[in-house]
Amino acid sequence: MKTCKKCNLPETYETIVFNENGCNICVGTNKYKNIDWAENKKKLLNLVNKYKSQKGYDCIIPFSGGKDSTFQVHYAVKELKLKPLVVRFNHGFLRPKINSNTERFLKKIGVDFIDFSPNWKIVRFLMEESFRRKGDFCWHCHTGIFAYPLRLAVSFNVPLVIYGEPQSFHSQYYNVDEFEKENIEKFEMLRTLGISAEDMVGMVNERQDEKISLRDLEPFSFPDEKEFIEKKILPINLGNYIKWDVKSQVEIIKDLYGWETDELEGVPDELNPYGSKIECFMQGTRDYIKYLKRGFSRITQNSSQLINDGVISIEQAKKITEANEGQIPPSLDIFLDFINMDKKDFYEICESMEVYPHKRDKKKNYKISKKTSDFDKWFKVK
Ligand SMILES: [Zn+2]
Repeated sequence: MKTCKKCNLPETYETIVFNENGCNICVGTNKYKNIDWAENKKKLLNLVNKYKSQKGYDCIIPFSGGKDSTFQVHYAVKELKLKPLVVRFNHGFLRPKINSNTERFLKKIGVDFIDFSPNWKIVRFLMEESFRRKGDFCWHCHTGIFAYPLRLAVSFNVPLVIYGEPQSFHSQYYNVDEFEKENIEKFEMLRTLGISAEDMVGMVNERQDEKISLRDLEPFSFPDEKEFIEKKILPINLGNYIKWDVKSQVEIIKDLYGWETDELEGVPDELNPYGSKIECFMQGTRDYIKYLKRGFSRITQNSSQLINDGVISIEQAKKITEANEGQIPPSLDIFLDFINMDKKDFYEICESMEVYPHKRDKKKNYKISKKTSDFDKWFKVK
């Protein structure tokens, strides 16, 4: 596979285009660092002043307990002096460390908190369907973490919703200097994987004996558009207004709230110094599916960020990715039990979704990656 000469991302990375300076992803990362941040901060303060209120909440903050959303809440409360309602859409795979981080953080900072868990039986159906159709089992999570807080914003009349990282950090659907808005167009383009709630109901009911209806999928559906516009709901990404600096943000939340990082299944610790994605115990399987489809996973992605930050060299990155990519995560068995699928079907589905020119070497003997120390505490159906 062809890879970027600067950051080592491969040609199967979504929206990547190579150029003489490397690729559009790493060029974008550098462009982001040079945005006029003083100007954008001014815009943020103006906006915040408009939304500050004397009653109820000033804003809603979607929260997983991971490094980014923990910092979002910290920044809103301590720097912007807002009174937020913190909302967690619980995807069902929270890890013990994240739960203890969350409890400690919420108690220390002092905010109101709503924890919402969708119906687990329905989540299982949604995982199976979105995996079979799109090779991505996270439809419920992609949609729910955006839709549910926005629905609360509408029902509670709290128009300002503060997300963290803009989409442009991960792909080039948006430019790095663009103020992204979480509206219905973006929701349908990116969050739903192209499967609307209506289609999902039909698909699930075709396969499962237990039938579901559209109202079962409300937590995963964008709010009523008319109300959304009338109430002037404004979802923003904090990373468009202040320079998102993960390293120093993690230092802040560690220092002030004792936030702790964790191992990540299948990823060597040195490639995950800031604790990306440690909130979900299905992450290892998610990354593995990406590997099966595209020939790379978080190992390559994280190492490319570390190259951009000057932490490791491209040679070091190549060595470490070659040694570690493609290992089978222990969480795969848990996942297959959730959706009641055997390994043969799983591999056939992934193979049918391989992105050219990646082709998995089926003869190679892939190692099973190390279990993380909390593996035995993860919820299992068997
Ligand atoms: Zn690049």
